[in-house]
Amino acid sequence: MNGFDEDDAFEAAARAVPPAGGPGARASLSQRAMGMDPARHPWLDDLNPAQRAAVEALDGPVLMLAGAGTGKTKALTARIAHLLATGRARPNEILAVTFTNKAAREMKDRVGRLLGHAAEGMPWMGTFHSISVRILRRHAELVGLKSTFTILDTDDQIRLLKQVIAAADMDEKRWPARQLAGLIDGWKNRALVPEKVPSSEASAFNNRGTELYAAYQERLRSLNAVDFGDLLLHVLVIFQTHADVLAQYQRWLTYILVDEYQDTNVAQYLWLRLLAQVHRNICCVGDDDQSIYGWRGAEVGNILRFEKDFPGARVIRLEQNYRSTPHILAAASSVIAQNAGRLGKTLWTDLDEGEKVRLIGHWDGEEEARWIGEEIEALQRGTRGMDPVALSDQAILVRASHQMRAFEDRFLTIGLPYRVIGGPRFYERQEIRDAMAYFRLAVSPEDDLAFERVVNVPKRGIGDKAQQVVQTTARGDRSSLLEGARHAVAASLVTGKAAVELRRFVENVDRWHAAVRAASPATAAPATGEDDALIELPDDAVPPAEDHSHVRLAEAILEESGYVEMWQNDKTPEAPGRLENLKELVKALEQFDNLQGFLEHVALILDNETDAAEKVTLMTLHAAKGLEFPVVFLPGWEDGLFPSQRSMDESGLKGLEEERRLAYVGITRAEELCTISFAGNRRVYGQWQSQMPSRFIDELPEAHVEVLTPPGLYGGGYGAAGAWAGAASAGAGGIFGASAVEARAARADVYNSPGWKRMQDRAGNRPVSQPREARHTVIDLDAVSPHDLGDRVFHRKFGYGHVTAVEGDKLTVEFEQTGPKQVLAGYVVAAVDAGDVPF
Ligand code: ATP
Ligand code: MG
Repeated sequence: MNGFDEDDAFEAAARAVPPAGGPGARASLSQRAMGMDPARHPWLDDLNPAQRAAVEALDGPVLMLAGAGTGKTKALTARIAHLLATGRARPNEILAVTFTNKAAREMKDRVGRLLGHAAEGMPWMGTFHSISVRILRRHAELVGLKSTFTILDTDDQIRLLKQVIAAADMDEKRWPARQLAGLIDGWKNRALVPEKVPSSEASAFNNRGTELYAAYQERLRSLNAVDFGDLLLHVLVIFQTHADVLAQYQRWLTYILVDEYQDTNVAQYLWLRLLAQVHRNICCVGDDDQSIYGWRGAEVGNILRFEKDFPGARVIRLEQNYRSTPHILAAASSVIAQNAGRLGKTLWTDLDEGEKVRLIGHWDGEEEARWIGEEIEALQRGTRGMDPVALSDQAILVRASHQMRAFEDRFLTIGLPYRVIGGPRFYERQEIRDAMAYFRLAVSPEDDLAFERVVNVPKRGIGDKAQQVVQTTARGDRSSLLEGARHAVAASLVTGKAAVELRRFVENVDRWHAAVRAASPATAAPATGEDDALIELPDDAVPPAEDHSHVRLAEAILEESGYVEMWQNDKTPEAPGRLENLKELVKALEQFDNLQGFLEHVALILDNETDAAEKVTLMTLHAAKGLEFPVVFLPGWEDGLFPSQRSMDESGLKGLEEERRLAYVGITRAEELCTISFAGNRRVYGQWQSQMPSRFIDELPEAHVEVLTPPGLYGGGYGAAGAWAGAASAGAGGIFGASAVEARAARADVYNSPGWKRMQDRAGNRPVSQPREARHTVIDLDAVSPHDLGDRVFHRKFGYGHVTAVEGDKLTVEFEQTGPKQVLAGYVVAAVDAGDVPF
């Protein structure tokens, strides 16, 4: 809520008199009240004729169907300003649906700027959900609710569904609540109340789907609660069954505007159609090529039906793109052209040619993150032939949130300020914090905060009461909570299931802690001094004793605690992402010698965070819809990751086309510089996986792409793209040669070559072959105390400096360029001639 009083909005709306007799009467009054010159419409000044037409065609249905960056949102915003300034509508008579609440706030600000004064009192500007809540509170009793209804989050929803399943005598293990939740959400997206679910779907959920859906709705009602899907559905039912209520809103909300129309689902579509039925002043803007929420029930067909539903609709096509350079636009257009069944659009721009889209391959994901970090800093300094680009003008857009970890780690290490949009930062995510709490307990069983966090996560029946007993016992004993728990169980202060589970928990922590101690760093083999992954070893050579036992222990902890299983059983759309994040966390561990080192690393990098206002943006492609940045990096263009294997497995060609639209959305976010990258290897759950460059890369137009070779210093001659670029140019006449398929095959050959495989095998067994990030294992450090006070050292980011303090393996170094910094010993090497720096 943005501090707006709902009731005021209703009262104001109720008092609002529809502008009878056209705009004239009220226009001059309101304009005079606003101190405006009615003849001046500055918001129209910088619109092109098509946009202007869309803004000025205030009456009747308008569909603005146009490609990315053509100024749809700009025109929509100008239209609101125009409605207000010409007195056509008061702020509370305009229904403006945006994709996020943030977008609504921004639009309101922009309208204010256009008008020259704040656009206050626009209660109906927001998302479908936020607007529905407002309406539903007002009329809750019409669907059997009280106006104080609560909105359930996913956890509550699942809990309730479990009860419903149990009450129906079904086995929740065979028929998981998450699955039922997905089914019900799907029906709600399609505006289907239980009685309306088609008989063809009656077999769902063991033939009882609809019955359980009805029972669930009854339960919700008795609890005076709704879930997210209900917000819209209830309002729709009210509109459909209470003509008087609908008529009220139809009268009040005289102008309707919808941004990102291509992503509306059936329920949203019906909701809009009902509201617009009488006055028909509805303006929808969208781009069929940017429909990326099919997996959540969005129906791109809604755009196609618009003219049918609103006969006589004015369809306005915008073709001039104001956002991106010709190269960027050409790249995006070429990729999306591969989709069948498009409405098809031409886009042009008169911007300067600018830079070609850049393409670069890397050895692995860490190298990709490092390279992008360096590029961002170089761009910020203005050393890339462009004017300096502020950090806030640069964005990295990823397909899957787990890709963010490598970037976050890198940026925290080098002190590059960043923000994650649309979700918490990697180490702040719920599943990562939970997992870290388990690791902390394994390392220090007396870590009470960690104990509290996970003692009942996953839920194992150690409820509040049992936890209170543990707290009291520990306080009485002046011991840690773990010891308190041990005592409480032994003395039978806790009984029943809680006691059994608490005992198991304590035993687990004991066992994990013993394993941590057994794998003390002293027993680990000293790291080798060279980057020797390329040296051939006889087949029977025994790899050094870097057994990665702490990685296996971490995996065991997550398995044995039931934590991984908890997310495996979770059928929410977020669950697969959370599992990916956990894998990513385990992967991160490989670069450390032990769990302690990793926990310290995280603590230290989080501590080094800056509060800089200027930050690089890190976000998913989905969250980037509608936004723009001068500089955009698109990493991870690898088949399976992007396009995502899951989406192709689940939806076949449809899934692939939605992925391609996502690629189009990604490229078209860039204004001046767009860089696409991929890695030849990604390590997933401790296993190297060799990656094929994304098929979308072959769809890029050669003339608009510049292929970069990874810098020799870092690529070291064995970077994926080094090998790849060489093979491509030698073998198939460049990656954009006559046959893209051949080029792909040539690349595949490189990946399949014995040399490549050997490198990978070695790399998989030996973290020392990590080209750069694992410097602290690569470098021949004195096992005990690698650096002493006064030592001259070199750090990849900060350069040369002298050690001024040593605390364990934390060093304070006075760097020659950047002054004092805290760094981990593993991140610096004894200074040698620059040419000898082994990374
Ligand atoms: P998307 O499909 O990505 O949502 P869009 O069609 O909504 O894009 P906008 O975000 O409205 O496009 O506009 C893209 C950029 O072009 C913005 O920076 C906007 O200010 C600029 N722009 C739009 N129209 C014009 C114009 N007529 N003159 C100058 N700049 C314009
Ligand atoms: Mg837009």
